[in-house]
Amino acid sequence: MNKYLEQLIQLSKFDKEIDEFIPRVESVEKTLRTTKEKLEQTNIAIANIDENLEELKLQKAKTNTHISEFAAKIKEVAKKGSQAKSEKEIKALNLEEEIAKEQLQAANEEIQRLEKIEANKTESKEELEKVVAEISNELIKIEAEISSELQSIEKERKEIYMKKDKLIGEMNQKILTFYEKIRKWARNTSVVPVKKQACYGCFMQINDKTYSAVIKGEDIVTCPHCGRILYKETQE
Ligand SMILES: [Zn+2]
Repeated sequence: MNKYLEQLIQLSKFDKEIDEFIPRVESVEKTLRTTKEKLEQTNIAIANIDENLEELKLQKAKTNTHISEFAAKIKEVAKKGSQAKSEKEIKALNLEEEIAKEQLQAANEEIQRLEKIEANKTESKEELEKVVAEISNELIKIEAEISSELQSIEKERKEIYMKKDKLIGEMNQKILTFYEKIRKWARNTSVVPVKKQACYGCFMQINDKTYSAVIKGEDIVTCPHCGRILYKETQE
């Protein structure tokens, strides 16, 4: 096979390998991102509960104020009752007392209701705080793993870059420019094999003349349809 063609095949393999590092790095970083998002969402949920708890506290304080007011009212009515003279006056005071007692009871029930909600919210908050602790631990582990994984990717990448630089140094400048031009649009399918007399870049059948030139492998042959560099795949 033509030496230049062999170099082109090798160069296109290096370029492809270098490009394949990008999704690998992305997938590693995605795990980290997903876990961080989970942590953030849990913290937001806790902040929401805190807001609810604050609101409940205010409602309880308000209701407790009402309770003192109703209790004071009942006392006041009782005092008035002891001084009441007429039947009509007593009756009116009794009614007043009854209403105040009902209001007091309703307020006490309201306090119970609010406390129940408060207990539920507090329980949910405690559960979420456990989740936060778990995710935080997980995050520490993931960060350690990621840093070692990224290091090994970086090492591999450096090795390939070194091989590529060495190869480029040995290559003919004109052929290199020719390859770079094709690579601009064909990316990692700039140099493709021919299988069953078809270009494996555009998948179109190539004519007999081109095909036999590819088989000979003496020149650099491009696909008549798409312009990619062709080679006959040697069986491995
Ligand atoms: Zn083609």
